[in-house]
Amino acid sequence: MNGITWLLPLALLATYGFCAKDLAATDTCTDVPVIQAAWKQLPKERRFPCDAEHLVVIRNLALFLKDHPNIAADGYLRERAVHAFAFCLTPKWPIYINLDTHPVFENSFAQSPWIALVVAGVLVHESVHANGDARESSALLEEYRTAKAYQTQGRLPESFDVMGLEKQYREALAKETTVAAKQ
Ligand SMILES: [Zn+2]
Repeated sequence: MNGITWLLPLALLATYGFCAKDLAATDTCTDVPVIQAAWKQLPKERRFPCDAEHLVVIRNLALFLKDHPNIAADGYLRERAVHAFAFCLTPKWPIYINLDTHPVFENSFAQSPWIALVVAGVLVHESVHANGDARESSALLEEYRTAKAYQTQGRLPESFDVMGLEKQYREALAKETTVAAKQ
């Protein structure tokens, strides 16, 4: 398939902008098997609706940034959008998942279905922020607990570094405590 044939209509959609333009840049929860599988595995207390108000999958970062000038114009948010696999504009939904820069999650899902559980942990992390808690320690603690539970159930391979998440949590907590003490 000739890539340019496809890119041209997408670029035109973005330029002339009507309601279909979001379809060119993003998918929703149900369109991507690994994301849908992750969403289905969310712990009961961290579930959220599978719709565009809660979860947006970025397929084309350039078009996405064109559609979201508020993110494109903000240096910090733009960096997050470009480099992070997942982010949200705390304390707001939706959670954005960037598959354009991070295709590995989608590409390895067929061979390693447990990848969906890693993504579920990431969704749990971001849902803490989306619900209003900006602290990295709170989000990492929930992500760690989720991954730990999956590993204890034997669903996440032992090779997945759950303790690395725990370490990140402790480091974030120590940093936040230091900052709080200085204020
Ligand atoms: Zn976070």
